[in-house]
Amino acid sequence: MTNLQACVQTLGEVATSDSQILRSYDHDLGEMPGVLMAMVNHTPQLVVAARTVDDVRRALELAARHGLPVTPRGQASSGYGGAIPSKGGMVLDLSNMNRLLSVDAVNATVDVEPGVIWEHLSKALAPHGLDNRVCPTSAPSSTVGGWFAMGGVGIGSLRHGSIRDNVLEIDVAGLDGSVHTYSGDEMEVFHQTCGSLGVVTRLRLACRKAEAMALFAAWFPSADRASGFLEGAERALAPYSASVQSAGYASMRGQADGHAPVIGDGFLVSLAIPRSDADETAVARLAEEHCGKPLPRDIAEAEWNGRYYPMRIKKAGPSALVGEFYIPLERFAACWNDIVTALPKDELGLEAFAVRGGRMAVLIYILDDAGTLLYPLRMAKAMIPLRIAARHGGGGYAAGMWFAGMAKRIFGEEKFAHAKARKDALDPHGLLNPGKLKGPGLPFLPFVSLSGLILFGTAVIAPLSARLSYTRPKAS
Ligand SMILES: Cc1cc2nc3c(=O)[nH]c(=O)nc-3n(C[C@H](O)[C@H](O)[C@H](O)COP(=O)(O)OP(=O)(O)OC[C@H]3O[C@@H](n4cnc5c(N)ncnc54)[C@H](O)[C@@H]3O)c2cc1C
Repeated sequence: MTNLQACVQTLGEVATSDSQILRSYDHDLGEMPGVLMAMVNHTPQLVVAARTVDDVRRALELAARHGLPVTPRGQASSGYGGAIPSKGGMVLDLSNMNRLLSVDAVNATVDVEPGVIWEHLSKALAPHGLDNRVCPTSAPSSTVGGWFAMGGVGIGSLRHGSIRDNVLEIDVAGLDGSVHTYSGDEMEVFHQTCGSLGVVTRLRLACRKAEAMALFAAWFPSADRASGFLEGAERALAPYSASVQSAGYASMRGQADGHAPVIGDGFLVSLAIPRSDADETAVARLAEEHCGKPLPRDIAEAEWNGRYYPMRIKKAGPSALVGEFYIPLERFAACWNDIVTALPKDELGLEAFAVRGGRMAVLIYILDDAGTLLYPLRMAKAMIPLRIAARHGGGGYAAGMWFAGMAKRIFGEEKFAHAKARKDALDPHGLLNPGKLKGPGLPFLPFVSLSGLILFGTAVIAPLSARLSYTRPKAS
């Protein structure tokens, strides 16, 4: 009996090596050229769909015994390759561990298993008078454990910060099958590192009081005015969440689903403020100070109700390249102006979230067609906004597999060094999600990192790719 057959037999019905199922675990929601996918062994040999902590512990022990790499996976919505195997082995699917364990209504906290979906959690908290403080816009289809392991900001981040700021305690299972509880600074090393130091089996989250939001939308003539408004809003209006979209993005949405507000040029800013804190007159006054024009309430409501469907603009495509970065709010306008100089404006859309502490998380959508000959070259365009943001004091959003080469900058030198030291001590054979702290090596040159090659390659190709414009097919 092979090692693999022994694993499947020992783990019972939660394990499978059925080839059809294995293939459904060899990718995530992101889109990468086939040539890059071909450089990693992205198809697992075994999938374990854990239902309990005990399943996780047994799977990890077996993997360690048989030298199998283990890739934890939530709903694989992250798109950075973190949930894709780089060396085959076992995918440990946590999506069936989706129970709400306990709610503490007095202290406004909830304990959950890692596979709980954000939108389900929001609904389950409602009878307790509570709600999620933050969630990604992928809330209908992404997990609590996956977002923590990946890191990020989303809805609610203007008031409550990142996912990291709202996780109070975690349980983590290691390769030896032991489970430890971490909180405070000890927890930091498990955030953003894609499960390469352990598998999160429980999270305690801080919640907010469930409260209806007062919703506002306003148009601003420039990025400068929009960011000025957001700066004032964070200082004076106690907002919960704020998003920004460029006229180009609104137009793409209009093409995709016909429901976007037509703003012609400039920016649309949408603001949600808990009703008990909302002061409509103060919002209108602040908007006016920054040359903003309040938009009708139904626009504000439509924006809020559509907050979980950002990718619908892909329908305007046929596909869209996405560049993502953080930028200090005060550099947002200068950064945007450089982006529209570097890339053809009519292909571009910007969507951004304001983040607590004067930051923005920005997504730049560049319409394209994956089916055309020059698409692999044009993909490098997605890196141009990030390079421009870096010149303005911004940085990468997340690392995963494809951008592991930027992990040191994204995590900070100290955290990266700590994570690496811990990895070397606890996982000397590199079995836990290999290739995610340090990018995977190339098949023919194992000492050259794939993510390093991606960063180098896109830097070389980017200036050329910026000139290769994509022609949008005319609407019939
Ligand atoms: C439409 C759309 C909207 C999005 N909006 C946002 C947004 O607003 N903000 C944002 O930051 N991101 C956003 N994302 C990206 C993505 O949804 C988030 O990163 C997400 O929360 C990941 O959850 P997941 O369950 O899909 O995790 P996965 O993609 O499955 O996993 C992410 C990483 O975590 C690891 N992992 C998963 N579970 C565990 C575990 N239990 N223990 C240890 N490691 C684990 C995986 O190995 C992988 O490296 C969006 C994506 C889409 C498609």
